[in-house]
Amino acid sequence: MSEIKKDIRSLSQEDISNFLEEQGEPKFRAKQIYQWLWQKSVTDFDDMTNLSKDLRTLFKAHFMIKAVEIKVIQQSSDGTVKVGFQLTDGNIIEGVIIPTDDRNTACISSQVGCSLDCKFCATGYLKRMRNISDFEIYDQVAALNKISLEKFGKPLTNIVYMGMGEPLLNYKNVLQSIEYITNPNGLGMSPRRITLSTSGVSKMIKKLADDDIKVNLAFSLHAPTNEKRSEIMSINNSNPLEEVIDALEYFSTKLKRKVTFEYVALKGFNENIEDADALAKLCSRLKSKINIISYNPIDEADFERSTSNRLDRFIQRLTQKGVQVSVRKSRGDDIDAACGQLANKVRNE
Ligand code: SAH
Ligand code: SF4
Repeated sequence: MSEIKKDIRSLSQEDISNFLEEQGEPKFRAKQIYQWLWQKSVTDFDDMTNLSKDLRTLFKAHFMIKAVEIKVIQQSSDGTVKVGFQLTDGNIIEGVIIPTDDRNTACISSQVGCSLDCKFCATGYLKRMRNISDFEIYDQVAALNKISLEKFGKPLTNIVYMGMGEPLLNYKNVLQSIEYITNPNGLGMSPRRITLSTSGVSKMIKKLADDDIKVNLAFSLHAPTNEKRSEIMSINNSNPLEEVIDALEYFSTKLKRKVTFEYVALKGFNENIEDADALAKLCSRLKSKINIISYNPIDEADFERSTSNRLDRFIQRLTQKGVQVSVRKSRGDDIDAACGQLANKVRNE
C-alpha cells in the first residue's frame, strides 16, 4: 500500500529542520524551504531553485503541497477585483481586492459559508459550512497579492477578514494564517495592517487580547440596543451587547488599540434619531469610532439602503454628540463583491 504523503505546509520551520537532520541534510535549508512556501508561495518542489535536485527529489518522495486554485477573476467598473478560489476539497470561496489611491486592501474569507445567520448578509444564508484551513486563508492573501502586483503595480497594503465567515469562530486557523502573513520569512506584513471583523464573540475577543494579537478589531454592531440587534443578528442572544462591549474594552485597554464599530445603515430600522442617541451612549464606553457602511441589497432580505438625507441627519446627530464617524463607500457592487454579497455565486454560473 502506498503511503499517503503529508502536506509539507502542515510542518513548522522547526519540523522541516528536524526532517532535514533525520535525513542527514543541512538544517539551514529549512529556512529556504519555509521561504519558498510562505514568502514565494510555490506549489511545486521543482520551483525551489536554490535546492539541489537530490534534495527536491527527497522532498517530493515524502511530501506534497496542497494549494488553493484560482477559479475565476472578475473586475468591477470601479477597479475592485473579485476572485473565486477553489479549496482543496472543491468548495468555492471568494476574496476581493479593493484598490484606492493610497491602499490596496484584500478582503478574505475565513469560513465556507458562515456559522451564523445575520439577516442582512448573503453569506449567512448559505447552508454549507466548514472552517477554512490556515494555508487556505493564507493562499487567498498570497494570490491576491500577486494579482495586486500584476494589475495595480503594487502589493497589498492591508488585509481585512471581512469576506465570508466569522473569523473568531475559526480562531486557531485564523491566528495561524496571521502568523504566515506577518512572519518575516512569510509575507512579513505588520499586524497593524490586518483587521479582523467580528459579529461579537466575547470569549474570543478576550482571548485575542490574552494571546497579545495586535491586529485591528472591527465589531459589527449594526444596532445600538439588544432588542434591535437580536432581531437581525442571532448571535446577540448568546453574546449580548454589554458582554461584547466589556470584552472589547478589555481588548482595547490591554492592547492599546482603538476598536471600530461597523454599522450597516438600514433605512427606518437603525438610523433614526433615537438610534443615534443610543449609539452615542454606547460609544462613550470605550475608545472607538463608527464606520457607517451602506447596505448592499441581497435577494434574501427586504431591508432598504438608507437615503443620503436620513444618513446625513443620523451622522450629524452622532457628530454633535462627539462620536467619531466615517462612511465606507460601497465598492464592487456590480460584481457582487461588496460587503455581505459574497455567496460563491461563481459556483452557480
Ligand atoms: N463575520 C464577520 C466578518 C465578515 S462580514 C462579521 O460579521 O463582522 C464583514 C462585514 O460586512 C460585517 O460588518 C458585516 O456586518 C457586513 N455586511 C454583511 N452583510 C452586509 C450587507 N448586505 N451590506 C453591507 N454590509 C454587510
Ligand atoms: Fe456571518 Fe458576518 Fe455574515 Fe453575520 S455578517 S452571517 S457573522 S459573515
